[in-house]
Amino acid sequence: MTVLIDKKKNRKPRPSHALRHPEKAHKPDTEVLRKPAWIRVKAPTSKGFARTNKIVRDKGLVTVCQEAACPNIGECWEKAHATFMILGDTCTRACAFCNIKTGLPGPVNHAEAAEIGNAVVEMGLKHVVITSVDRDDLADGGAEHFVNVINQIRDKSPATTIEILTPDFLRKEGAAEMVIDAKPDVFNHNLETVPRNYLKIRPGARYYHSLRLLERVKERDPEQFTKSGLMVGLGESKQEIMQVMDDMRVAGVDFLTIGQYLQPTRKHAAVERFVTPVEFKAYETIARAKGFLMVSATPLTRSSYHADADFAELRAARLAKKGH
Ligand code: SF4
Repeated sequence: MTVLIDKKKNRKPRPSHALRHPEKAHKPDTEVLRKPAWIRVKAPTSKGFARTNKIVRDKGLVTVCQEAACPNIGECWEKAHATFMILGDTCTRACAFCNIKTGLPGPVNHAEAAEIGNAVVEMGLKHVVITSVDRDDLADGGAEHFVNVINQIRDKSPATTIEILTPDFLRKEGAAEMVIDAKPDVFNHNLETVPRNYLKIRPGARYYHSLRLLERVKERDPEQFTKSGLMVGLGESKQEIMQVMDDMRVAGVDFLTIGQYLQPTRKHAAVERFVTPVEFKAYETIARAKGFLMVSATPLTRSSYHADADFAELRAARLAKKGH
């Protein structure tokens, strides 16, 4: 085995084959479009950012904010809004849009559930978002670990509301039910893109399976809020987006997020175009007219962006609908 010599102190040498996305290495480079002015974000330099960073690092936690190279990290971490990614940092799928490292993950770290509970307390979170890598290698897809994390947060910080953003649990009988029964406040599963794009963008997933997962949450626990998200700028048409909105409403989805897809590397799917803020506003108006309780549609919207404030609005919208 050859190794790269790393001259920086205290750093282990990295094997030369340790590519972040080995399955994409052979792909031709795609052109990276210059971002428009409305996508620019500030560099993360605040004291709040440093404090969040220290807690995450000291506890050895993984966040999707870092792993997905989220553009909002400066803003979110300043306010201690980090989205924890459980079950390791390596994903068994290889979606064309995603920056999470791919490969064969290590064993589940069972101490992680308690560490997340402690971090929630230390950061004083009123609302927390937990997501995970896809774990097709585990018999239950990681469902039991999701349940343990939810229970630890409930034990240590009972007032914190919990939002989960799950994989699709494809071919994992009973896994989704296990997680639904742990009663998170919000069950989020992203459809990510329109069905025509699945083979290219989300080849390991199935559109109707993902849609049905959201519907199963509502059937099993009608009070549990459901949420789902789409990326735009991947060549989809407005009509296709509106059809997905209709599909989501039939499945009972309460909360829709829509954000601009940004290309993590030259090996990932190319951005076809940047959707303008005016078009995002139009999507929001249409989605609200279709009956979603809550909609967030802006270029920088991500599933967990402003999740705490949006959850408060979501709850208020349900109460208002019920006439309270
Ligand atoms: S939008 Fe979500 S993933 Fe991005 S930095 Fe904020 S909390 Fe993290």
